[in-house]
Amino acid sequence: MKTIYFDNNATTKMDEQVLEEMKPYFSVLYGNPSSMHSFGGQIGHKIARAREQVAQLLGCEPSEIIFTSGGTESDNAAIKGTLAAVPNKRTIITTRVEHPAVLTVCRERENRSYSVIELSVDKDGQLDLSELDQQIDDDTAIVTIMYANNETGVIFPIEKIAQIVKAKGAVLHTDGVQAIGKIPLNLSKSNIDLLSISGHKLHGPKGVGVLYIRKGTRLSPYQLGGHQESGKRAGTENVPGIIGLGKACEIAQENIELENNKVKKLRDKLEKEILAKCPDSMVNGDTKNRLPNTTNISFEYIEGEAILLMLDQFGICASSGSACTSGSLEPSHVLRAMGVPFTAAHGSIRFSLSKYNTEDEIDYTIEKVPPIISRLRELSPFVPK
Ligand code: PLP
Repeated sequence: MKTIYFDNNATTKMDEQVLEEMKPYFSVLYGNPSSMHSFGGQIGHKIARAREQVAQLLGCEPSEIIFTSGGTESDNAAIKGTLAAVPNKRTIITTRVEHPAVLTVCRERENRSYSVIELSVDKDGQLDLSELDQQIDDDTAIVTIMYANNETGVIFPIEKIAQIVKAKGAVLHTDGVQAIGKIPLNLSKSNIDLLSISGHKLHGPKGVGVLYIRKGTRLSPYQLGGHQESGKRAGTENVPGIIGLGKACEIAQENIELENNKVKKLRDKLEKEILAKCPDSMVNGDTKNRLPNTTNISFEYIEGEAILLMLDQFGICASSGSACTSGSLEPSHVLRAMGVPFTAAHGSIRFSLSKYNTEDEIDYTIEKVPPIISRLRELSPFVPK
Protein backbone atom coordinates (compact mmCIF):
# COMPACT_ATOMS: atom_id res chain seq x y z
CA MET A 1 0.00 0.00 0.00
CA LYS A 2 1.24 3.45 -0.87
CA THR A 3 2.02 5.80 2.01
CA ILE A 4 0.26 9.15 1.79
CA TYR A 5 2.16 11.40 4.13
CA PHE A 6 0.33 14.34 5.69
CA ASP A 7 2.44 14.60 8.85
CA ASN A 8 5.07 17.05 7.71
CA ASN A 9 4.89 19.16 10.87
CA ALA A 10 6.17 16.08 12.72
CA THR A 11 8.97 15.46 10.24
CA THR A 12 9.61 15.74 6.52
CA LYS A 13 11.06 13.51 3.83
CA MET A 14 14.66 14.43 3.23
CA ASP A 15 15.23 15.94 -0.20
CA GLU A 16 17.31 13.61 -2.46
CA GLN A 17 19.69 16.48 -3.22
CA VAL A 18 20.29 16.92 0.51
CA LEU A 19 21.12 13.23 0.89
CA GLU A 20 23.55 13.36 -2.06
CA GLU A 21 25.27 16.39 -0.57
CA MET A 22 25.68 14.64 2.79
CA LYS A 23 26.95 11.25 1.58
CA PRO A 24 30.69 12.04 1.19
CA TYR A 25 30.84 13.32 4.77
CA PHE A 26 29.93 9.88 6.12
CA SER A 27 32.71 8.19 4.17
CA VAL A 28 35.55 9.87 2.28
CA LEU A 29 35.39 13.31 3.91
CA TYR A 30 35.37 12.14 7.51
CA GLY A 31 37.93 14.56 8.91
CA ASN A 32 37.44 16.63 12.05
CA PRO A 33 37.10 20.32 11.21
CA SER A 34 39.17 21.20 14.29
CA SER A 35 42.24 19.26 13.07
CA MET A 36 45.37 21.14 12.04
CA HIS A 37 45.92 19.05 8.88
CA SER A 38 44.31 20.01 5.63
CA PHE A 39 42.29 16.78 5.42
CA GLY A 40 40.32 17.92 8.45
CA GLY A 41 40.71 21.61 7.75
CA GLN A 42 38.90 21.37 4.39
CA ILE A 43 35.75 20.35 6.32
CA GLY A 44 35.81 23.70 8.10
CA HIS A 45 35.36 25.40 4.72
CA LYS A 46 32.36 23.20 3.97
CA ILE A 47 30.79 24.10 7.29
CA ALA A 48 31.40 27.76 6.54
CA ARG A 49 29.55 27.28 3.24
CA ALA A 50 26.60 25.66 5.06
CA ARG A 51 26.54 28.57 7.50
CA GLU A 52 26.30 30.94 4.54
CA GLN A 53 23.43 28.94 3.04
CA VAL A 54 21.49 29.17 6.31
CA ALA A 55 22.32 32.86 6.68
CA GLN A 56 21.01 33.53 3.18
CA LEU A 57 17.67 31.92 3.93
CA LEU A 58 17.37 33.91 7.16
CA GLY A 59 18.79 37.20 5.91
CA CYS A 60 21.46 37.40 8.60
CA GLU A 61 25.25 37.22 8.91
CA PRO A 62 26.87 33.75 8.93
CA SER A 63 28.61 34.72 12.18
CA GLU A 64 25.20 35.06 13.84
CA ILE A 65 24.47 31.35 13.42
CA ILE A 66 25.43 28.39 15.56
CA PHE A 67 24.64 24.80 14.70
CA THR A 68 22.88 22.69 17.31
CA SER A 69 21.32 19.22 17.51
CA GLY A 70 17.84 20.50 16.55
CA GLY A 71 14.91 22.66 17.52
CA THR A 72 14.74 21.42 21.10
CA GLU A 73 18.37 22.23 21.80
CA SER A 74 18.08 25.65 20.15
CA ASP A 75 15.02 26.51 22.25
CA ASN A 76 16.71 25.31 25.45
CA ALA A 77 19.90 27.16 24.59
CA ALA A 78 18.14 30.43 23.84
CA ILE A 79 16.14 30.44 27.06
CA LYS A 80 18.71 29.01 29.47
CA GLY A 81 21.60 30.93 27.89
CA THR A 82 19.74 34.24 28.16
CA LEU A 83 18.64 33.65 31.74
CA ALA A 84 22.22 32.82 32.72
CA ALA A 85 23.47 35.99 31.03
CA VAL A 86 21.10 38.29 32.96
CA PRO A 87 20.79 36.63 36.40
CA ASN A 88 19.19 39.67 38.03
CA LYS A 89 16.13 39.55 35.80
CA ARG A 90 13.63 36.96 37.00
CA THR A 91 10.61 37.06 34.69
CA ILE A 92 10.00 34.98 31.58
CA ILE A 93 7.17 35.80 29.19
CA THR A 94 5.85 33.13 26.86
CA THR A 95 2.51 31.87 25.52
CA ARG A 96 0.22 29.01 26.46
CA VAL A 97 0.54 27.49 22.99
CA GLU A 98 4.30 27.00 22.71
CA HIS A 99 5.88 23.68 21.82
CA PRO A 100 6.99 21.67 24.89
CA ALA A 101 10.62 22.47 23.96
CA VAL A 102 9.84 26.01 25.16
CA LEU A 103 6.96 25.58 27.59
CA THR A 104 8.57 22.84 29.67
CA VAL A 105 11.82 24.80 29.97
CA CYS A 106 9.95 27.91 31.13
CA ARG A 107 7.78 26.00 33.62
CA GLU A 108 10.81 24.22 35.04
CA ARG A 109 12.32 27.62 35.82
CA GLU A 110 9.36 28.40 38.08
CA ASN A 111 10.95 25.98 40.55
CA ARG A 112 14.08 28.12 40.44
CA SER A 113 12.43 31.31 41.63
CA TYR A 114 11.54 32.71 38.22
CA SER A 115 8.06 33.98 37.47
CA VAL A 116 6.64 32.79 34.20
CA ILE A 117 3.88 34.70 32.46
CA GLU A 118 2.02 32.58 29.90
CA LEU A 119 0.04 34.82 27.57
CA SER A 120 -3.37 33.49 26.61
CA VAL A 121 -4.75 33.22 23.07
CA ASP A 122 -8.23 33.85 21.68
CA LYS A 123 -10.44 31.31 19.93
CA ASP A 124 -8.43 31.77 16.72
CA GLY A 125 -5.20 31.05 18.54
CA GLN A 126 -4.06 34.68 18.32
CA LEU A 127 -2.42 36.81 21.02
CA ASP A 128 -3.56 40.09 22.49
CA LEU A 129 -0.50 42.26 21.78
CA SER A 130 -1.57 44.92 24.29
CA GLU A 131 -1.36 42.25 27.00
CA LEU A 132 2.19 41.48 25.88
CA ASP A 133 3.03 45.18 25.99
CA GLN A 134 1.65 45.53 29.52
CA GLN A 135 3.46 42.51 30.88
CA ILE A 136 7.02 43.44 29.83
CA ASP A 137 8.96 45.37 32.45
CA ASP A 138 12.51 45.84 33.74
CA ASP A 139 12.46 42.40 35.33
CA THR A 140 11.77 40.63 32.00
CA ALA A 141 14.75 38.43 31.17
CA ILE A 142 13.35 36.99 27.95
CA VAL A 143 10.20 36.94 25.85
CA THR A 144 9.88 33.65 23.99
CA ILE A 145 7.03 33.47 21.47
CA MET A 146 6.81 31.06 18.56
CA TYR A 147 6.57 32.23 14.95
CA ALA A 148 4.08 29.57 13.76
CA ASN A 149 2.20 26.97 15.74
CA ASN A 150 3.03 23.33 15.05
CA GLU A 151 -0.52 22.09 15.74
CA THR A 152 -2.71 24.67 14.03
CA GLY A 153 -0.25 26.43 11.72
CA VAL A 154 -1.36 29.80 13.16
CA ILE A 155 1.25 32.47 12.45
CA PHE A 156 1.92 35.09 15.10
CA PRO A 157 2.67 38.67 13.94
CA ILE A 158 6.28 38.23 14.91
CA GLU A 159 7.52 41.55 13.54
CA LYS A 160 4.94 43.50 15.57
CA ILE A 161 5.83 41.39 18.60
CA ALA A 162 9.52 42.13 18.00
CA GLN A 163 8.84 45.87 17.85
CA ILE A 164 6.95 45.80 21.14
CA VAL A 165 9.68 43.78 22.84
CA LYS A 166 12.45 46.01 21.47
CA ALA A 167 10.67 49.19 22.51
CA LYS A 168 10.70 47.88 26.08
CA GLY A 169 14.38 46.92 25.83
CA ALA A 170 13.76 43.19 26.36
CA VAL A 171 15.15 40.19 24.48
CA LEU A 172 12.96 38.24 22.03
CA HIS A 173 13.46 34.59 21.20
CA THR A 174 11.21 33.01 18.60
CA ASP A 175 10.78 29.32 17.89
CA GLY A 176 10.83 29.38 14.11
CA VAL A 177 10.94 25.60 13.73
CA GLN A 178 7.65 25.36 11.82
CA ALA A 179 7.87 28.65 9.97
CA ILE A 180 11.35 28.71 8.49
CA GLY A 181 11.40 27.28 4.99
CA LYS A 182 7.63 27.65 4.70
CA ILE A 183 7.28 31.41 4.96
CA PRO A 184 9.88 34.07 4.25
CA LEU A 185 11.78 35.90 6.97
CA ASN A 186 14.44 38.57 6.67
CA LEU A 187 16.29 38.93 9.95
CA SER A 188 18.25 41.94 8.70
CA LYS A 189 15.00 43.90 8.75
CA SER A 190 13.69 42.38 11.96
CA ASN A 191 14.09 42.98 15.69
CA ILE A 192 14.16 39.28 16.60
CA ASP A 193 17.18 38.56 18.83
CA LEU A 194 17.19 34.77 18.89
CA LEU A 195 15.59 32.25 16.53
CA SER A 196 15.45 28.44 16.52
CA ILE A 197 15.23 26.25 13.45
CA SER A 198 15.32 22.49 12.91
CA GLY A 199 16.71 20.56 9.93
CA HIS A 200 14.13 17.79 9.72
CA LYS A 201 11.18 20.15 9.37
CA LEU A 202 12.44 21.56 6.07
CA HIS A 203 13.41 18.40 4.16
CA GLY A 204 16.81 18.27 5.83
CA PRO A 205 18.30 15.71 8.22
CA LYS A 206 17.20 14.96 11.78
CA GLY A 207 19.43 15.80 14.72
CA VAL A 208 20.65 19.15 13.46
CA GLY A 209 19.36 22.66 13.93
CA VAL A 210 20.33 26.28 14.19
CA LEU A 211 20.23 28.99 16.78
CA TYR A 212 20.43 32.49 15.34
CA ILE A 213 21.96 34.92 17.83
CA ARG A 214 21.74 38.55 16.78
CA LYS A 215 25.14 40.25 17.05
CA GLY A 216 25.44 41.84 20.47
CA THR A 217 22.82 39.63 22.15
CA ARG A 218 23.99 38.40 25.55
CA LEU A 219 23.91 34.60 25.77
CA SER A 220 25.95 32.47 28.16
CA PRO A 221 27.50 29.35 26.64
CA TYR A 222 25.27 26.47 27.68
CA GLN A 223 27.46 23.56 26.62
CA LEU A 224 31.08 23.72 27.67
CA GLY A 225 34.09 21.91 26.25
CA GLY A 226 35.97 22.71 23.05
CA HIS A 227 35.99 25.97 21.14
CA GLN A 228 33.53 24.95 18.40
CA GLU A 229 30.79 27.35 17.25
CA SER A 230 32.77 30.36 18.55
CA GLY A 231 32.80 28.84 22.03
CA LYS A 232 29.02 29.07 22.27
CA ARG A 233 28.29 25.39 21.65
CA ALA A 234 31.09 22.97 22.36
CA GLY A 235 31.32 19.54 20.75
CA THR A 236 32.61 18.08 17.49
CA GLU A 237 30.27 19.21 14.77
CA ASN A 238 27.64 16.93 13.19
CA VAL A 239 29.32 17.48 9.83
CA PRO A 240 26.96 15.52 7.51
CA GLY A 241 23.98 17.03 9.32
CA ILE A 242 25.29 20.57 8.99
CA ILE A 243 26.10 20.09 5.29
CA GLY A 244 22.59 18.67 4.77
CA LEU A 245 20.92 21.49 6.65
CA GLY A 246 22.80 24.06 4.58
CA LYS A 247 21.60 22.42 1.36
CA ALA A 248 18.04 22.11 2.72
CA CYS A 249 18.05 25.86 3.44
CA GLU A 250 19.27 26.62 -0.08
CA ILE A 251 16.49 24.48 -1.58
CA ALA A 252 13.88 25.92 0.79
CA GLN A 253 14.79 29.43 -0.31
CA GLU A 254 14.21 28.46 -3.93
CA ASN A 255 10.93 26.69 -3.07
CA ILE A 256 9.18 29.13 -0.78
CA GLU A 257 7.05 30.44 -3.67
CA LEU A 258 6.24 26.89 -4.79
CA GLU A 259 5.28 25.85 -1.29
CA ASN A 260 3.10 28.91 -0.82
CA ASN A 261 1.26 28.27 -4.05
CA LYS A 262 1.17 24.55 -4.79
CA VAL A 263 0.98 23.29 -1.22
CA LYS A 264 -1.56 25.89 -0.16
CA LYS A 265 -3.80 25.00 -3.10
CA LEU A 266 -3.73 21.33 -2.17
CA ARG A 267 -4.29 22.08 1.52
CA ASP A 268 -7.24 24.35 0.72
CA LYS A 269 -8.85 21.74 -1.52
CA LEU A 270 -8.48 19.02 1.13
CA GLU A 271 -9.89 21.26 3.84
CA LYS A 272 -12.80 22.59 1.78
CA GLU A 273 -13.94 19.15 0.61
CA ILE A 274 -13.66 17.56 4.04
CA LEU A 275 -15.68 20.37 5.65
CA ALA A 276 -18.30 20.12 2.89
CA LYS A 277 -18.62 16.34 3.15
CA CYS A 278 -18.41 15.90 6.94
CA PRO A 279 -21.08 17.64 9.02
CA ASP A 280 -20.10 18.94 12.47
CA SER A 281 -16.51 19.54 11.49
CA MET A 282 -14.57 22.80 11.78
CA VAL A 283 -11.11 24.22 11.26
CA ASN A 284 -9.17 25.20 14.37
CA GLY A 285 -7.17 28.42 14.31
CA ASP A 286 -6.91 31.67 12.40
CA THR A 287 -7.32 30.68 8.74
CA LYS A 288 -6.09 34.07 7.48
CA ASN A 289 -2.74 33.93 9.22
CA ARG A 290 -1.71 30.34 8.80
CA LEU A 291 1.12 28.24 7.38
CA PRO A 292 0.33 27.21 3.81
CA ASN A 293 0.72 23.49 4.59
CA THR A 294 -1.34 22.96 7.74
CA THR A 295 -4.98 22.34 8.54
CA ASN A 296 -6.29 21.25 11.92
CA ILE A 297 -9.85 19.96 11.70
CA SER A 298 -12.11 18.95 14.57
CA PHE A 299 -14.72 16.25 14.04
CA GLU A 300 -17.31 16.46 16.82
CA TYR A 301 -18.28 13.43 18.94
CA ILE A 302 -15.44 11.09 17.95
CA GLU A 303 -11.86 10.42 19.02
CA GLY A 304 -8.98 11.71 16.89
CA GLU A 305 -7.02 8.55 17.68
CA ALA A 306 -9.78 6.37 16.20
CA ILE A 307 -9.78 8.49 13.03
CA LEU A 308 -6.00 8.18 12.77
CA LEU A 309 -6.14 4.39 13.08
CA MET A 310 -8.74 4.15 10.33
CA LEU A 311 -6.83 6.53 8.07
CA ASP A 312 -3.74 4.43 8.69
CA GLN A 313 -5.52 1.40 7.23
CA PHE A 314 -5.65 3.29 3.94
CA GLY A 315 -1.99 4.33 4.19
CA ILE A 316 -2.86 7.91 5.15
CA CYS A 317 -0.56 9.41 7.82
CA ALA A 318 -1.88 12.36 9.79
CA SER A 319 -1.67 13.37 13.42
CA SER A 320 -3.93 14.23 16.31
CA GLY A 321 -2.26 17.15 18.03
CA SER A 322 1.51 17.46 17.92
CA ALA A 323 3.69 14.39 17.37
CA CYS A 324 5.47 15.10 20.62
CA THR A 325 2.29 15.03 22.72
CA SER A 326 0.40 12.25 20.95
CA GLY A 327 0.43 8.93 22.74
CA SER A 328 -1.57 10.43 25.57
CA LEU A 329 -5.32 10.89 25.35
CA GLU A 330 -5.24 14.36 26.92
CA PRO A 331 -6.62 16.89 24.44
CA SER A 332 -3.92 19.14 23.06
CA HIS A 333 -2.81 22.07 25.26
CA VAL A 334 -2.98 24.32 22.19
CA LEU A 335 -6.64 23.59 21.44
CA ARG A 336 -7.51 23.86 25.15
CA ALA A 337 -5.82 27.27 25.31
CA MET A 338 -8.00 28.34 22.36
CA GLY A 339 -11.10 27.25 24.25
CA VAL A 340 -12.01 24.54 21.72
CA PRO A 341 -14.78 22.51 23.42
CA PHE A 342 -13.64 19.20 24.89
CA THR A 343 -15.70 17.09 22.46
CA ALA A 344 -14.21 18.90 19.46
CA ALA A 345 -10.64 19.03 20.80
CA HIS A 346 -10.72 15.26 21.27
CA GLY A 347 -11.70 14.71 17.65
CA SER A 348 -9.07 16.92 16.07
CA ILE A 349 -6.82 15.85 13.23
CA ARG A 350 -3.87 17.73 11.80
CA PHE A 351 -3.03 17.29 8.14
CA SER A 352 0.34 18.87 7.34
CA LEU A 353 1.39 18.78 3.70
CA SER A 354 4.65 19.22 1.83
CA LYS A 355 5.95 19.79 -1.67
CA TYR A 356 5.86 16.01 -2.19
CA ASN A 357 2.06 15.69 -1.93
CA THR A 358 0.04 15.36 -5.13
CA GLU A 359 -3.47 16.15 -6.31
CA ASP A 360 -4.18 12.38 -6.57
CA GLU A 361 -3.33 11.95 -2.90
CA ILE A 362 -5.71 14.75 -1.99
CA ASP A 363 -8.52 13.20 -4.08
CA TYR A 364 -7.92 9.79 -2.52
CA THR A 365 -8.05 11.27 1.00
CA ILE A 366 -11.18 13.27 0.26
CA GLU A 367 -12.81 9.99 -0.81
CA LYS A 368 -11.71 8.09 2.31
CA VAL A 369 -12.34 10.58 5.15
CA PRO A 370 -16.16 11.07 5.05
CA PRO A 371 -17.08 7.34 5.33
CA ILE A 372 -14.58 6.98 8.22
CA ILE A 373 -16.22 9.86 10.08
CA SER A 374 -19.74 8.50 9.45
CA ARG A 375 -18.73 5.01 10.57
CA LEU A 376 -17.15 6.26 13.81
CA ARG A 377 -20.15 8.44 14.58
CA GLU A 378 -22.46 5.44 14.17
CA LEU A 379 -20.43 3.78 16.92
CA SER A 380 -20.10 6.86 19.15
CA PRO A 381 -22.27 7.20 22.28
CA PHE A 382 -21.71 11.01 22.23
CA VAL A 383 -23.66 11.86 19.06
CA PRO A 384 -26.87 13.65 20.11
CA LYS A 385 -29.93 11.54 19.15
N1 PLP B 1 9.48 23.65 18.17
C1 PLP B 1 8.43 23.35 17.39
C2 PLP B 1 7.42 24.41 17.07
C3 PLP B 1 8.28 22.06 16.87
O1 PLP B 1 7.24 21.77 16.09
C4 PLP B 1 9.26 21.08 17.20
C5 PLP B 1 9.10 19.68 16.74
O2 PLP B 1 8.00 19.20 16.52
C6 PLP B 1 10.35 21.46 18.00
C7 PLP B 1 10.42 22.75 18.47
C8 PLP B 1 11.44 20.48 18.33
O3 PLP B 1 12.31 20.34 17.24
P1 PLP B 1 13.30 19.08 17.14
O4 PLP B 1 12.46 17.91 16.79
O5 PLP B 1 14.27 19.44 16.06
O6 PLP B 1 13.97 18.95 18.46
